[in-house]
Amino acid sequence: MSTVATSQTKYAALTFEEKLDRLAEVAVKVGLGLRPGQELVMSAPMDALPLARRITEHAYKAGALLVTTLYSDDPSVLARYQYAQDASFDYAPAWLQEGVATAFRNGAARLAIAGSNPALLAGQDPAKVSRANVAMSKVSKPAMELITRHDINWTIVAAATPEWARLVFPSEPTDVAMAKLWEAIFVASRIAVDDPVAEWQQHGARLKQRVEMLNSRRYAALHFKSADGSTDLRVGLADDHLWAGGGTTANNGVDCQPNIPTEECFTTPHKDRVDGVVRASKPLSHQGTLIENIAVKFEAGRIVEATATAGEDALNRLISTDDGARRLGEVALVPHGSPIAQSGILFWNTLFDENAASHIALGQAYSTCVKDGDKLSEAELAARGANTSLIHVDWMIGSGQMDVDGIRADGTAEPLMRSGAWV
Ligand code: ZN
Ligand code: ZN
Repeated sequence: MSTVATSQTKYAALTFEEKLDRLAEVAVKVGLGLRPGQELVMSAPMDALPLARRITEHAYKAGALLVTTLYSDDPSVLARYQYAQDASFDYAPAWLQEGVATAFRNGAARLAIAGSNPALLAGQDPAKVSRANVAMSKVSKPAMELITRHDINWTIVAAATPEWARLVFPSEPTDVAMAKLWEAIFVASRIAVDDPVAEWQQHGARLKQRVEMLNSRRYAALHFKSADGSTDLRVGLADDHLWAGGGTTANNGVDCQPNIPTEECFTTPHKDRVDGVVRASKPLSHQGTLIENIAVKFEAGRIVEATATAGEDALNRLISTDDGARRLGEVALVPHGSPIAQSGILFWNTLFDENAASHIALGQAYSTCVKDGDKLSEAELAARGANTSLIHVDWMIGSGQMDVDGIRADGTAEPLMRSGAWV
């Protein structure tokens, strides 16, 4: 990571505007590692405009060639569900996504601000939501591949928005809920310290130590077992799998932190070697739909039973997207002692909740989590067990009651986590 000079004012003495500015600076310098002369394509909800403007300022100060932001607006998204003709839900703007992919191929970096209402589409027709998601996934595939292969430097940060804040703190008035959510974002994003850039360097180094330990073990599988028996899952790891975490050097040579916050060590499971039962430890907000109490049974890598107490229809449509949507593309270990888990806040936002608990993801695998993955063909990656799908959806399974063992090739088990903490 490049060294960056920041103002070292005590965090407690900062105004809200200064805290926002600090988050923007960390997003550009630590998250993106934006290079002088590099173009930036950003996406942001309209409600995140103040943070988007500050990120734009810091990007230009860092030498950005041009910053282009694609804004989304929750009420306009809802208007489509209320008034658009049926054919709208099988259509997505390929022309726009081709343009974004072209920008990435020409060297642009990508920053996404998360903050849309996690429950925006909860009352809409699940069939229409699913059709719109599939149409968008198809046209986004070329741009998404450049991101998941880490051909470019990219990052995601979050901005508090009123609807989201009201969902997280339902008993508070909106202004109090907003203030609380912003503070939780600042703390989780590790800017609530006197020198955030130094903090991020130390945090990244600690995660990388854990990654090296896991890579040296060459486990054949992980075994997750919860105290109440609702999870008893064996996750085979891909042949030649690599663990990652604590930052990435993108294929363009730039060091970046793809997620702010990040607490995870993650790798690629084997798409055909997952067996057992698993129950989610937190609800999932997926593209504006809430899915609660997910319980799933895997056989030979494939989901054969899936239930949820809310959003079950959305879950079943999601895993029916394609064959790979029923298989795992990621497994990640996060200790229950992570600051986000200890905050006790349910964020209803995967960027935060996945960094509060060990998790698995259905769908597309990260080829960077397979040895020489960026040089292998799709068939070669599949032969090692890496999954392919139009979707990649993380959901949380870890808790303070979860034990995890590493299973060696000869079948011996080594304790990795006990009651959610690293051994
Ligand atoms: Zn993850
Ligand atoms: Zn993931």
